[in-house]
Amino acid sequence: MPKLLIVEDEKVLLDLLTHHLENEGYTVIGTTNGEEGLELARREQPDLCLLDVMLPGLDGLSLCRILRRESDVAIILLTARAGEIDRVIGLDNGADDYLVKPFSLPELTARIRAALRRSPRRNDTVLRAGNLQVDLAARRVFVDSREVKLSHKEFELLATLMRNKGAVLSREFLINQVWGYDFDGDIRTVDVHIRWLREKIERDPSKPEHLQTVRGVGYRID
Ligand code: CA
Repeated sequence: MPKLLIVEDEKVLLDLLTHHLENEGYTVIGTTNGEEGLELARREQPDLCLLDVMLPGLDGLSLCRILRRESDVAIILLTARAGEIDRVIGLDNGADDYLVKPFSLPELTARIRAALRRSPRRNDTVLRAGNLQVDLAARRVFVDSREVKLSHKEFELLATLMRNKGAVLSREFLINQVWGYDFDGDIRTVDVHIRWLREKIERDPSKPEHLQTVRGVGYRID
């Protein structure tokens, strides 16, 4: 059964959720503390994290961004106040879903099931686009069955585009996902890496089949 991590500083709610989800058959680990949540996530490699947004110390949104940078774990945010929703939705925090308190336990279970179903961990870790193959787990990329070597950032950039195949991703989104929120360099870094990627994955980098520029918006992989 999938392993869930709950980070919720209201002990009563943490216990209630733990009890309910264990009854549903999940393996549940929980903590009331954000820093410990990060440690547990790294050590226990859960399939899904349920993160309360308002936590003392390391808050849920920051924790979410750190976890997203490190892995594909499914993440559901729990928000207490309507005022938080804007922040939760507005930021590219990498969460898969969010629930506003108070929520019903059946709704929570349904959202968890849906998030796990969509999670790349639960699916094939090999993503394909035409002659291009990206093995997320092994971090290997193949073009026409020939392996191409990518740098760490090139791989992260390609993986992010492949996970969102067909969608146009802005430079800002790509910077946040690949370089992180604390990146303070030039946003054109993205363009430079896209050019390098094209040289490695496209048959003719000047006429890309996969990596498309959407003028004024960003990039898309087909
Ligand atoms: Ca809280």
